[in-house]
Amino acid sequence: MPQRRRSLPEIAKRKSKLDYLQLNNVQVVYNGMILVLRGVTLSVPRGKIVTLLGANGAGKTTTLKAISNLLAADRGNVIGGSIHLEGRRVDNLSPDALVRSGLIQVMEGRRCFPHLTIEENLLTGAHTRSAGRAELRESIDRVFHYFPRLKIKRRLSAGYASGGEQQMCAIGRALMSNPMIVLLDEPSMGLAPQIVQEIFAIVRGLNEREGVSFLIAEQNATLALDCADFGYILENGRVVLHGTAEVLKDSSDVKEFYLGISSGERRNFADLTKSHRKRKPFLSVVD
Ligand code: ATP
Repeated sequence: MPQRRRSLPEIAKRKSKLDYLQLNNVQVVYNGMILVLRGVTLSVPRGKIVTLLGANGAGKTTTLKAISNLLAADRGNVIGGSIHLEGRRVDNLSPDALVRSGLIQVMEGRRCFPHLTIEENLLTGAHTRSAGRAELRESIDRVFHYFPRLKIKRRLSAGYASGGEQQMCAIGRALMSNPMIVLLDEPSMGLAPQIVQEIFAIVRGLNEREGVSFLIAEQNATLALDCADFGYILENGRVVLHGTAEVLKDSSDVKEFYLGISSGERRNFADLTKSHRKRKPFLSVVD
């Protein structure tokens, strides 16, 4: 049966339903001259978990900061490309306005206020909302529901909390803004494997039960691909491979370079980029 042709507005509407966040050919420079992102294109479908993988210095943090408009403090600038949230261009929105639009970033290294208690830290996360006491209480209880450890430690100064509890507090604080999408920068960094497993399980729960989308920058590919629906691999400021988490886990290059499973012949990261340029095996995330 011949398929009906879709009009452009229909296609755009359909696409914006699928792609909650869309980066198109984003380029970033630091100090006006160091080109770090060389045209990153990626998308986060609504209600999905996407992971951004790559070695040290690949450009993961820069990508997240470009999205949240947090590059200025590092003398970084987006010099090309576009960023859309729900089909609306947001490259020029302030970080504050982005939070009000439903997008929030949890920075690498947790960054809790050490002299405030866990509960006070959580409350700071609601500063963009004009919520009353009852509403705030409800939001805090929701965070405690997902992070029972935080409820137990709610009166503890965050500076005395363990690394895992501080990471949970940082994610919980982000949740207080009622986000639709959370950008998580290396949630596993410096944490014991068991705590990381616990955090990823909570992220999955938030995604499944509350429909929150996540873009997670990670070096721990095994855990990230187990948790995510889709993945992108960044190398030198470029996406060299992307696809569903299942397909990426099966890819021999990903197994060799990121999952530590060797096929025998040893190669380096540069070979990965070259071989993908030759074969162009790009796997479409959203068709
Ligand atoms: P990591 O896992 O180590 O955090 P990453 O993939 O997140 O790495 P980025 O932090 O985005 O990588 O860094 C990408 C590149 O940009 C690196 O070469 C880094 O040295 C460079 N870079 C980052 N911040 C700055 C800055 N403020 N000024 C100049 N160069 C920078």
